Amino acid sequence: MAAPDYIALAQPGIRALRAYDPGLDLVALRRAASGAGLVELGSNENSHGPSPAARAAILDTLHALHRYPDPAGGDLKRALAARHGVDPSALVLGNGSHELLMLMAQVFAGPGRDVVASQFGFAVYAIAAQAAGARLVQAPARPVGDAMPRGHDLAAIRAAVGPGTALVYLANPNNPTGTWFDTAALADFLASLPPDVLVVVDEAYLEYATDPTLASAIPLLARFPHLAVTRTFSKGYGLAGLRVGYLVAAPALVAVLERVRESFNVNGPGLAACEAALGDPAHLDWVRRQNAAEREALADALAARGLAVAPSQTNFLLVDFGRDAGPVEAGLVARGVVPRPMGGYGLPTCLRLTVGVRDENRRLLQALDEVLA
Ligand code: PMP
Repeated sequence: MAAPDYIALAQPGIRALRAYDPGLDLVALRRAASGAGLVELGSNENSHGPSPAARAAILDTLHALHRYPDPAGGDLKRALAARHGVDPSALVLGNGSHELLMLMAQVFAGPGRDVVASQFGFAVYAIAAQAAGARLVQAPARPVGDAMPRGHDLAAIRAAVGPGTALVYLANPNNPTGTWFDTAALADFLASLPPDVLVVVDEAYLEYATDPTLASAIPLLARFPHLAVTRTFSKGYGLAGLRVGYLVAAPALVAVLERVRESFNVNGPGLAACEAALGDPAHLDWVRRQNAAEREALADALAARGLAVAPSQTNFLLVDFGRDAGPVEAGLVARGVVPRPMGGYGLPTCLRLTVGVRDENRRLLQALDEVLA
């Protein structure tokens, strides 16, 4: 029997889709490096690791792996509700915040509707829109010479919103640019929109923020019922391997998402570890301080080499080499340092580098000096 044309069988939005690009093949690179120790700076993971309390909490769940997890994630939701000063009914848990970003488009966008996001916004927004069959409308980013180069331009995003717009995705701070906007600007933006245009503010990296102008949008939920905020345990909390994120929004919005959320989408070890991680704010503070110090030192060191480094409130830096970054990427990989290529974002002259621990950053700079020599 001849195989059918599976692409033709797929839903229209999915036919045109390109799968999320997770970067270089780490499994193969690790195998090739065997023992030499790869410096993995391609995926914006937490270089410092999670709270020891999270590891201990996972061990306590191992006797119950044959049981389904709590489908409501009640204990974790109550801990999150207390942390953010919201009701547990304002929360949805996700298999990473990625799942929740997808869910928002699946539920609220669709054929004949538009999803607005910024140029150089996080890649998943475009995938979420297209997978739902919606049209993606991309607003131009800020210019390279701006104080927030290639960052979100809220005025341009507002101008891209039209009568067909169902959903807007914003990242604060944004990946891959590292740039951010302040709460007053966001409040003005939200107030300027029709009430039926939903806005997702993706705060995946907010735990890393140290600039006083950058704060969570969660307090704005009391004024703006068309707002939804996504957060994750993958970055500041160092639990990317467990896949746990959450969304905070009006309980009535949450109730609609719950209709399609897969019932056991967050696993038992993940629920327990994240609850324990929330109970160890000292570890998070330590991670934030370590990262901020290394981020500044690394940014200065890169700038001292004549490279253009975008300001960042995250655990990564977007570096513009001013020429095709492919050979730099190849040279780094050959020296056991893994960056994230940016061609997929339309930034072939850039690489994105996770801020590592001091020794990793030292090895990165050493490799870079050899490559650029
Ligand atoms: N938002 C942004 C801006 C991200 O960079 C990422 C991960 N790279 C995510 C969301 C998704 O992260 P997770 O699914 O691990 O929560």
